[in-house]
Amino acid sequence: MMIDISIRLRDELVAAARGSVDEVCGLLLGRGERVERVLPCRNVAATPATRFELDPAALLAAHRAARAGGPAVLGHYHSHPSGDARPSARDAADAAPDGSLWLIVAGGAVSAWRAIVDGTLHGRFDAVAMRDGGCGAGHEPPQGGDSPARSVFPT
Ligand SMILES: [Zn+2]
Repeated sequence: MMIDISIRLRDELVAAARGSVDEVCGLLLGRGERVERVLPCRNVAATPATRFELDPAALLAAHRAARAGGPAVLGHYHSHPSGDARPSARDAADAAPDGSLWLIVAGGAVSAWRAIVDGTLHGRFDAVAMRDGGCGAGHEPPQGGDSPARSVFPT
């Protein structure tokens, strides 16, 4: 399994989590296997230092926007201030095996997982490889080399 998520988006998540004593969380928006945007959400858990719960209003709004033709909700991310890069047993207990994408931000890095039936981790998660598909079609070779901000849109 493989998803496209740019280095820039991963850096955004790492920066958002850095220095936060609470778990930060948000939604992953995109199409197909490509995460195009991250949408930070409020962590409304009662004990946000050790748990996360996405603001239900933000979740509802994102699903509504998707139904109206916006990007799909591919999954969500949250951070582990403890530094553990893998989903916890508690994450597994909370995860519906619906194939959604889980990104864990910990220790200055991001790892990706999919919540499925009979996953290899806690019986719920399988690791997912990430590649930097850039902003375009994902198959163009690197060009120029020194302009990471260039935007290429699929036609
Ligand atoms: Zn967790």
